[in-house]
Amino acid sequence: MVQDPAEERKHRSPSYREVTDLGEIEADAYIVATGSSPKRLPIEGSDRAIEAIDYLLDRKKVGNRVVIIGGGLTGCEIAYDLKRKGKEPIIVERLNDLITTPNLCLANSSFLRDYFKANDVPVYLETSCKQIADDHVVIIDKENNETEIPCDSVIVSIGYDPKPLAKKDKNIYLVGDADKVGNLRSAIWGAWKIAMEI
Ligand SMILES: Cc1cc2nc3c(=O)[nH]c(=O)nc-3n(C[C@H](O)[C@H](O)[C@H](O)COP(=O)(O)OP(=O)(O)OC[C@H]3O[C@@H](n4cnc5c(N)ncnc54)[C@H](O)[C@@H]3O)c2cc1C
Repeated sequence: MVQDPAEERKHRSPSYREVTDLGEIEADAYIVATGSSPKRLPIEGSDRAIEAIDYLLDRKKVGNRVVIIGGGLTGCEIAYDLKRKGKEPIIVERLNDLITTPNLCLANSSFLRDYFKANDVPVYLETSCKQIADDHVVIIDKENNETEIPCDSVIVSIGYDPKPLAKKDKNIYLVGDADKVGNLRSAIWGAWKIAMEI
């Protein structure tokens, strides 16, 4: 999972140390597995939004009516969680379907789609968020129609970018999300491949 090393790890483990430069440590080979960081939404008011990971780690609280920007697996699981807590999630997704993550178990994605339909969770497909204000967001559909949605909070869940501490080199290997954002399986398999290579 993505974490802010400075914020999260220091108080969890006294031995945690943030590496800022590989030169700090002498070694024959370096495996960089520094994970990923959330993509930023380049729109007006984006600083008002809460990152998905901050909601999931309970670092930030949300109000009752919550717009979730990004209907991938994480965004949909957050919407499901909010609905089960009695809140009013609203999903805004720029593609024409929810949860387009490849190789995902169909039972999971179908369940979430059906759950949103059965429980009247509003889902706006082929729609982007244009602006985030204090008490509403402005969304825009593929025909350029703009709609204002009143809300108390906004959660952004639009994916992650690799955050490698160093570039690949002769003795520098990138593993997991630091190389390519994936999942636990891709991180573990990638690590095994590199371990065999070294
Ligand atoms: C919300 C969310 C839900 C997910 N759910 C699933 C799921 O259900 N199933 C699944 O398979 N995958 C899931 N994933 C993906 C999975 O969590 C990642 O693919 C996996 O954790 C990547 O492992 P990693 O070791 O590459 O990076 P990370 O797990 O991100 O670990 C990177 C580590 O490096 C540390 N670090 C970073 N910079 C430094 C530094 N400069 N110095 C020292 N330490 C540093 C960080 O503190 C962190 O501990 C999810 C991801 C997210 C964001």
